Amino acid sequence: MKAMVLVKPQTPLQLVDIDAPQPNTGEIRVRVSACGVCRTDLHLVDGELSHPKLPVIPGHEIVGTVDQIGEGVQGFTIGQRVGIPWLGWTCGQCSYCKSGRENLCDNAKFHGYTLDGGYAEYAVADHRYCFTIPEGYPDTQAAPLLCAGLIGYRALRMAGEARRLGLYGFGASAHIVAQIAAYKGQEVYAFVKPGDVAGAEFARQLGAAWAGGSDEMPPVKLDAAIIFAPVGSLVPTALRAVDKGGVVVCAGIHMSDIPSFPYSILWEERVVRSVANLTRADGEGLMDIAPQVPVRTHVQIYKLEQANQALTDLRDSRVTGAAVLVL
Ligand SMILES: [Zn+2]
Ligand SMILES: [Zn+2]
Repeated sequence: MKAMVLVKPQTPLQLVDIDAPQPNTGEIRVRVSACGVCRTDLHLVDGELSHPKLPVIPGHEIVGTVDQIGEGVQGFTIGQRVGIPWLGWTCGQCSYCKSGRENLCDNAKFHGYTLDGGYAEYAVADHRYCFTIPEGYPDTQAAPLLCAGLIGYRALRMAGEARRLGLYGFGASAHIVAQIAAYKGQEVYAFVKPGDVAGAEFARQLGAAWAGGSDEMPPVKLDAAIIFAPVGSLVPTALRAVDKGGVVVCAGIHMSDIPSFPYSILWEERVVRSVANLTRADGEGLMDIAPQVPVRTHVQIYKLEQANQALTDLRDSRVTGAAVLVL
């Protein structure tokens, strides 16, 4: 099969022709039709994530159809459409797994990081971590739901019942979260790169009540803010924008250092927290609500062989919505 492989961090992905994987016990094999390009893939390629499997096939927003079924798999049929997310395996034994927090599992494995992912014609996955994708979503538009959507959805839950919600960094995740938040009756305040007029307009089209530069203060105090941009200086910026008791959620897996800030902007019960990974319950929650909204994802399509270009465009903020590889 054709695959784009990371051999060494800080080098471009290489197009290779390798044997397609075979499903082990409990696994399904999927003929990949689309795979989203997530900012985490960029952090992986840039060497900002520790201890990846190497070489590794990146990609954890995988949509395809089941073409082989391993022993012991139940509930899947050949030809069925499925989604494979970031969370690939958890141990079920550690204190986190046992307390309903499998996203924090000590021994978790992740697609496109410590397991091979979907920048390839075929991918295998433990069937227990795969999702059924709602009907009505073409494969390419479903792909961003599997991480941008999922992590965004988890971050939105962590933001609580905020009436006024700020989103810093209006990329793949935020463009999905904005739609869900608007559907839930929340007022969305979108913060884009200063000067990004098109980005601000895109946010307004998706239901944002206000859109402006991340160097601007919103016209009103926010109840919560989610930071999707991997920019640590946005933490004090967002703390200054939230009201007493407000929550600032950092949704990325990697962020530049956070500059020191005066205690006064955290005082009055403001909270800063991060979101890590996903649970299967998050996935089920998102797949349930997405068609109700209905969430419409905006995708920028690339061929598998153009994965390096997609990553470069993501790094340079040239992607509107989400980048997706089609196979
Ligand atoms: Zn565990
Ligand atoms: Zn991701």
